Amino acid sequence: MYHKPKIVVLGAGYAGLKTTRDLTKLLAPEEADIVLINKHNYHYETTWLHEVAAGTINLNQARFMISDVIHPSRVRLIYDTVEKIDTEEQRVILKNGEITYDYLVVALGFETNTFGIKGMEEYAYSIVDINSSRLIREHIELQFAKYSAGESDDESALTILVGGAGFTGIEFVGELAEKVPQLCRKYDIDRSKARIINVEAMPSILPMFDKDLVDYAIRSLEDRGVEFRLGTPIKECTPEGFIVGDDNELIKAGTVVWTGGVTGNSVLGKSGFELERGKVMVEPDLRAPGHENIFVLGDCAWVMDEEAGRPYPPTAQAALQHGETCARNLRALLRGEPLEKFQFIDRGTVASLGISDGIANIFNDTKLKGKAAAAMKKVVDNRALFLLGGTKILLKKGKVRPF
Ligand code: FAD
Ligand code: NAD
Repeated sequence: MYHKPKIVVLGAGYAGLKTTRDLTKLLAPEEADIVLINKHNYHYETTWLHEVAAGTINLNQARFMISDVIHPSRVRLIYDTVEKIDTEEQRVILKNGEITYDYLVVALGFETNTFGIKGMEEYAYSIVDINSSRLIREHIELQFAKYSAGESDDESALTILVGGAGFTGIEFVGELAEKVPQLCRKYDIDRSKARIINVEAMPSILPMFDKDLVDYAIRSLEDRGVEFRLGTPIKECTPEGFIVGDDNELIKAGTVVWTGGVTGNSVLGKSGFELERGKVMVEPDLRAPGHENIFVLGDCAWVMDEEAGRPYPPTAQAALQHGETCARNLRALLRGEPLEKFQFIDRGTVASLGISDGIANIFNDTKLKGKAAAAMKKVVDNRALFLLGGTKILLKKGKVRPF
């Protein structure tokens, strides 16, 4: 009897949602059943989460319902948490059940990496998803409200301490530089009492940008009240703040956020995949080594840049492109055709420094800073939204905020 192949996609982020949407266009309904499994019934723009965490955008702008962009009659939608993949039996164990597959796409994104720093998991917040970002926003506002109400006279309650000055840390303090003055006005607090401190182990920030752009970013953020502690490794996190440096200095804060690193989803390790620094080093066609029917995408994968001799950085830009290649390769597998190698098209890098500021390196080494870079960031954000949600979602949730 004919067995209709079942493709199961895990995760409705950039890579998983793009794969699923492309599959619905590339395959006829009778060619395969498609199942998309995601923890929530909504997709969120991970690249906007620092804005949700700072409270500079409404969290509903950063998410949309999956059923608004994928028709449930074409794709079976399951909202559940993936716990483990049994590759021998070809089944996925969920919190509330299990499902078998013929072809599997693992696109479960990243988790925070605290590198075993004592107290970090217990006492620091992280920007991971909508819920964790909302917690940060609410916690910061509560500190200001309590101080204003006289519940605390310790000014360090108003300090926001951010550990790690990679992209996430820098973009987050850029948003905080917008939000903190608003909170001070709202709660009648003198602006000089609220501090934003970014602690970084390396002597500088964002090494992928040229020095002039980095210098611009540091100056711009400092001008708006961000204090940098560069060359300062964090050794421990306590309920009061970070312990840093050789003299074990305590930097006290009411809000502590760790943006010091990420790793692949822990489901990979629990499922027995061979891992390198928490992710699967995939074959050039994006399949997991030794698994002809399993693709691993996005932040769960390392994809080797043959020219550079190192993996591409994990980004949304890359994850979307993984989704496109994976969908075409699934069609090729079903039709017995040769698979293609993933080829990354690098459209550049942009870091926002708040609503109307940023730095960028785009196309063939064109450098932008200030409003031009901020405008480019909005173009990039809107493009990703369009690729996943189409015109309707772009018009509803797109970024049109004036500077
Ligand atoms: P994600 O988009 O994170 O999606 C993973 C999905 O899997 C989510 O829907 C999640 O809910 C779901 N999921 C997770 N675990 C489970 C489970 N156990 N069961 C079921 N579902 C699960 N990259 C850029 O290119 N440009 C940027 O400007 C940029 N800005 C960023 C800003 C921030 C604050 C952060 C944190 C990252 C940023 N990145 C940026 C990196 C980018 O967001 C990631 O590389 C990208 O999200 C990876 O896509 P993904 O599809 O692998 O995972
Ligand atoms: P990251 O690994 O890029 O940066 C973490 C930073 O924390 C590093 O600068 C590191 O030196 C620092 N750090 C680590 N341990 C420390 C310690 N003990 N004390 C002090 N500092 C410490 O992580 P990220 O910023 O979360 O970015 C993750 C991925 O997401 C990256 O690959 C990045 O490219 C991508 N991303 C891209 C964008 C963008 O393109 N605009 C934005 C956000 C994230």
